Amino acid sequence: MAEETIFTKIINGTIPSKIIYHDELVSAFADINPKAEHHILIVTNKPIPSVAEVTKDDEPALGRLFTVARKIAEDLNVNESGYRLIVNVGKDGGQEVPHIHMHLLAGGKLGGLGFPDKK
Ligand code: AMP
Repeated sequence: MAEETIFTKIINGTIPSKIIYHDELVSAFADINPKAEHHILIVTNKPIPSVAEVTKDDEPALGRLFTVARKIAEDLNVNESGYRLIVNVGKDGGQEVPHIHMHLLAGGKLGGLGFPDKK
């Protein structure tokens, strides 16, 4: 069996974290190293390694990431003012945890995305 990811351990409660949302498809909790006033991770309960490995069967969970992002944004009172959703993919995309997750960043005006490093 594949090794559990750190996010699976958080969802299962093996690693303590404040789960702010949980349903049968996705869970959400605060990022341990926040890059904005509010930095929430919304993760699929199924440990899909990355967007590079999604299938059509994953569409319900992937769609749920967005509806839960909206719900959290409403709870944070930023649904009107705006926020940023980021999904990193693979090594060059800066993905550190091989378990699909969406970053929700909010709180004031966010900086630009910046330019990718030139090789
Ligand atoms: P990514 O680079 O897109 O894979 O993002 C992984 C994110 O997971 C980073 O922003 C980390 O700060 C965050 N992270 C790693 N370990 C934990 C943890 N135990 N609890 C919450 N967030 C974590």
